[in-house]
Order: sequence, then C-alpha cells, then structure tokens
Amino acid sequence: MNNLDKNIIDFFRVSLLYKEKLNKAGLRTVRDLLLYFPYRYDDFSSKTAIAELKINEIATIQGRIVDITNRRSWRNRRMVLTEALVEDETGSARAVWFNQPYLVRSLSKGATLSLAGKTSVDKQGLVFSNPAFELFKIGEALAHTGRIIPIYREAEGITSKWLRLHIQPLLRYADEFEEFLPDEVLQPEKLMGLARAVKEIHFPPAMASAEAAKKRLAFDELLMIQLRVQRNRLKIQKEKAPAIKFNKELVKNFVEELPFILTDDQRRAAWEIIQDLEKPTPMNRLLEGDVGSGKTVVAAIAVLEVIQAGFQVALMAPTEILADQHYKNFLKHMIGYKVALLTGSSSLINKNKVTYEEILRDIKNGIADIVIGTHALIQDKVQFKNLALVVVDEQHKFGIEQRAKLVKTLFSLKDGLPDKVPHLLSMTATPIPRTLALSLWGDLDISLLRQMPKGRRKILTKVVAPANLAKAHQFIREEIKKGRQAFIIYPLVEESPHLEAKAVTAEHKRLTRDVFPDLRLGLLHGRMKPKEKEEVMGKFKNGQFDILISTSVVEVGIDVPNASVMIIEGADRFGLAQLHQFRGRVGRGEHQSYCFLFTESAAKNTSQRLRALTGAASGFELAEKDLQIRGPGEFLGSKQSGLPDLAMASLNDLDLIKQTRRVAQELLERNPELENNKFLKEKLEKFEQAIHME
Ligand code: ADP
Ligand code: MG
Repeated sequence: MNNLDKNIIDFFRVSLLYKEKLNKAGLRTVRDLLLYFPYRYDDFSSKTAIAELKINEIATIQGRIVDITNRRSWRNRRMVLTEALVEDETGSARAVWFNQPYLVRSLSKGATLSLAGKTSVDKQGLVFSNPAFELFKIGEALAHTGRIIPIYREAEGITSKWLRLHIQPLLRYADEFEEFLPDEVLQPEKLMGLARAVKEIHFPPAMASAEAAKKRLAFDELLMIQLRVQRNRLKIQKEKAPAIKFNKELVKNFVEELPFILTDDQRRAAWEIIQDLEKPTPMNRLLEGDVGSGKTVVAAIAVLEVIQAGFQVALMAPTEILADQHYKNFLKHMIGYKVALLTGSSSLINKNKVTYEEILRDIKNGIADIVIGTHALIQDKVQFKNLALVVVDEQHKFGIEQRAKLVKTLFSLKDGLPDKVPHLLSMTATPIPRTLALSLWGDLDISLLRQMPKGRRKILTKVVAPANLAKAHQFIREEIKKGRQAFIIYPLVEESPHLEAKAVTAEHKRLTRDVFPDLRLGLLHGRMKPKEKEEVMGKFKNGQFDILISTSVVEVGIDVPNASVMIIEGADRFGLAQLHQFRGRVGRGEHQSYCFLFTESAAKNTSQRLRALTGAASGFELAEKDLQIRGPGEFLGSKQSGLPDLAMASLNDLDLIKQTRRVAQELLERNPELENNKFLKEKLEKFEQAIHME
C-alpha cells in the first residue's frame, strides 16, 4: 500500500481522545494530513543573537535554559507564570508563559531551546511573552521556530502545534503524490511540481515559495472546476432538443399588447433566448437581473414561443407563494392555453387526491401546456407528454442538492420526447459577480438585465441605530395614515425555523399590544401552512393589513405596490444581495419608498457593509461588494458549495480563473475524455464525487 493511504496511527502514538478528534475532523490518513493546508504563516526565520534583540520585533533565539520556575502572578493570584532564562554565547533573555505550569517539566534546566515570538518589555526589561518554542538538537529540523511557521485552523480541538509536529515528519511521503499535470502544462504555466508544492505549502523555505506552492494547489482546484464545467457544456452540446421556430408575428403581438415598453436589455435577452430555442441543441441560459428588472416577461416570451409550437413548458419556483403568483399571472396572460399548478401541497390543499391525480394526468397527456410548481415538479411520478422548456425562477434559492437533481433530471426527465432534452432557462436576481460566473457557471450562457424599467424611483435607504427604533415606528404610522403599508422583517435564526417562528410570533404580539394597537398587523413565517401563508399574503396585498411582520420568507415573490416602508431588523445577519432583495419588495408602485436597516452589531465592518446599500448601488455592484467584503465562502455559503478552501479563496482571483479556464479548454480540445491522462482523469472523478454543486 501507498503510504499516503496509511492511517496516521501507523506512524504516531495518538491518544484515544485525539483519535476521536481527528476522526471528527476527517483526518485519518497521511494524505488527509498532508492536504490539510495552513491558512497563514508566522515568519520566525530570522535567527538573532540574544545581544542583538530589539524590543517589539519578531525573532527566534536559540540557547540553553539556565533557569526555569513557576510563580503566581502578583496581580492575579490565580494565574501561574512560568519564567525561563535562556542564554547563548552573546547574552541571556527572559521568556514568560501564562498558565502552563507543566512546562517546567518538559523544559528542564540545561536543555537546548529554540524560541520564537515577539519581544516586549516589562519592569525587568526585554521579554518574550508566550513565545513558540521547541527543544532541539543541533542539526535537526525545526518545526515551530527559526523558520517560516505554518499556522493551521484548529478544527475539533486539534491544535496548530499538533498539526505542525505531525505533518512535518510525514512530508517525505509527499513524493508519492502522482503528478497529474502534464509537462506541457507545468512548463509553460510556470507551475511548481505537485510533491514540492505539498511540501512547501507546509514548510516553505521562503514566503515566495509558500505563494508559489499555494498558487499551484489553487490552480489544481480551479482547473477541476473548469474541467467539470466545460465538460458539462460539451455534454449538453451533444444532446438534442426540440428546435422552436421563431414566430415573429406572435411575439410582436404579445409585446405590443404589453402595458409597457420593453427595455433594451429585455429585448436583447428575449432575442438571445429566441435564437437559442431555434437551435436543435438544448439552451442552458441564465437570465440575470435585479429585483424588479422584469425577468418574468422575458421568460413569458420564451414560454409563448414554445407552447404555440405545441410543446409543454415547466416553470419551477422555490416557494409555493411564488409558484402561486406565477400561476395567477400566467393564467391571466396566456389566454387559450391550459396552465396547471403543481406544488407539494397541491394534494393537501385539495384534500381530494383525485384532483392531484388529475393534474398529473393533464401533464401526462399534454392537456396542460404550462406547468407551474415548486420542486414537486421534479418527482419521478411527474411525466410529461412533450416538455421542451424548463424555466427555473430564483434558481439561487434552490439548494445545491436540488439544483444537482434538477440538472440531472433534465437529462433523464420523462419529458415524453425520447432522445431529446428540454431547453433550460434559469433566472436569478442575485447578480453573480464576473469571477464567480466565469468559474462556477462557465457552462451557462448569460443574459443580463442591467437596466430597470423607466420611472422607478430610488428607495431611500438608511442604517438606523437601535435608539431610533421609535422614530421609525412613528414614520410607519405617518405612511400608513397616507394610505401606505409597511413590512417589518425579522432576522434569521440560524438553522432553526422553529425558533425563528417563535421569535417573530412574539414580536408580532408585542408590537400589536404595545406599539401599534390601533393598526392591523399580519404575521408570516416559514412554519405556517401554505394555505395560511397565502391567506396572509392575500390579505396584505388587498390592504387588509397595514403592516406585515415576517421572517425572510417574504424575500422572493410577493408584489405589493402599495407598500412603501421596509424595516429590516438584525440586518447584519443577512448578505447584501439578500437585503437588496428584501428592499425590492417596496418601491414597486408609484409611491416614494423607504428602507431602514437596523443592526445591533456595532462592528465597524458591519456598518460599512450595510452602508453599501445606502449608495446608489445596483444589485450587480452590491454583489461585487459582498464578494469583496465577505469573500466567496460567505457569498456562496461555503458549506453549500462543497468546494475546498483553496478553491473558495481563489474564486476572487480573476487571473488565475482565466488561466485555468484556458488550460482546461486546451486540455479538452486535445483530449475530450482525458483518456491519455489517467491521473488527471482520476483526480477529476474524485473531485466530482466530493462536491455536489449542481
Ligand atoms: P423580476 O425581474 O424581479 O422577476 P418582474 O418580472 O416581477 O421582476 O417585474 C416587476 C414588475 O415590473 C412587474 O409588475 C412587471 O409587470 C413590470 N415590468 C416589467 N418590465 C417592464 C417594463 N419594461 N416597463 C415597465 N414595467 C415593467
Ligand atoms: Mg421574479
């Protein structure tokens, strides 16, 4: 067996406790440890003679322990100080550690010590406080001092020091990592060899080599993403889809009858989609546009084209509320066609199983031209007669897993058209920054709606200190007196819809009793039954509530032109893009609208982040900012994306993304199945297993 696959405990004695921790952290084999990369370094490489030490400098000294004792601190009797005196040929220096009395046993008098850290001064002069240290023999490699020291994330209570100590002796096995990049990539792209990169990312001889090692390893991750995305693209291009001939008259009439004029961007996007639909290969297009930019009408043009050609369309939305809104909308505008609604609760709402079965039957025998629904649409029992287009609204709202299922299902869907797959149009209001789009969504064609329809007013946005809450409530009152309505959004309670519902219910009670006893307050949260939710939304829309108190479930969908105030509590818990979407719930009518962001957090970067919303920023600018401020991990939700840290971190690096994109193209051109590169192929397969991105 390859040493890389051997268990760590074949090499070290590991206590039971640590074994458990390692298991939890997913560190079992030598390979796991070697691929656990440091996230930063301490540069302790400059060794200094004790006589040359200066205050407030990072330094490493080496010498003999002359004295070491424990004593209690004068100021805090519960604190134990361990003080040591270390001497080299030029002089002696003091070191102090706090609350580690056991050190006197491991660092005994007379031993040779290497010690590194920042120097400071106390009453007795220069001192190293809590320095890194290690005993060593002349000629032995150092792990914690005297060099550039890797600092690891301490997962599950495994210390950085433990990792350093155990990774170092295993580094010699790094040579067993098979180089999977061919020379014709390594050479021209100036990349470090894999084995060397693994060694030097842990213990770099210089900071420059740490950078080069990191670049090589990040290159690998991004290359995998690119290979995957581009292979997907090639795969899709090989599939066949029904070609839908452009019906100019139909589209012209539809557009002429709209109560508004399409923006140039809407025209361009619609045209791009129409052209895609004409091709006998499946469209895979993302329609990106800010909240309110008018994506639905663009999609409607595509829908119309497809149904008039005699095929079916499926429109999938992330929530029942949104599915329902689309349903009503299409019902109104697609006259002469049969629109069906299929959601998880279709069967519940009707209580009457037969009706649900009837919907399924209509879908199967082609009576239903447009089928609108939630992810209930992608169940096995849903079978179409001739499905030619799938529209996914708010696609970012579908979890990674659901998207995976969706894309897979599209290939195996019972669309009634053997040998064909439907065209896919995804829509999102989360503007995806260019770097991310290039890397993660490189297999999609993208149409952008950058313009907003004419005549939209800017929503006045303010970050409000908690002390001004009462003023905001007063403001709501005045707006309501003028006949307007307001939203109050409560913050996320992490991963607990139950607690979230409880919190918002309590707030609803409190506001009704203490603050707005004379007004009508509605309550909306994710634990309510779909029917209840719909009722509340409906009432709010009809003006039967003045204020809607809600959790983040209002984020997508609801359209209430009369609402003019949006208050967001705990705004710091949401991402900018998401806040922007909340805000988009107001300002949909002719009234001047307002958005107030409340935050408890006094952190400077929080208010900096929130203030980005008060500028004139478009959703696109906000997304870029979000990405810059929070990094791709938070932006995408790192858990969700399943990407390795290095890949995550590199998603901001446009140059590296472009480089890997080009290299992936070149590799696949030469060799579409990567058959002549076994190691690369294996690496890609493992990568694909490890992530379930789509
Ligand atoms: P989103 O992109 O957020 O899905 P919608 O498609 O729901 O936006 O459109 C928001 C509102 O703007 C709708 O009421 C729609 O009728 C209207 N709308 C769409 N396009 C235009 C336009 N070109 N001019 C004016 N209003 C438009
Ligand atoms: Mg929409």
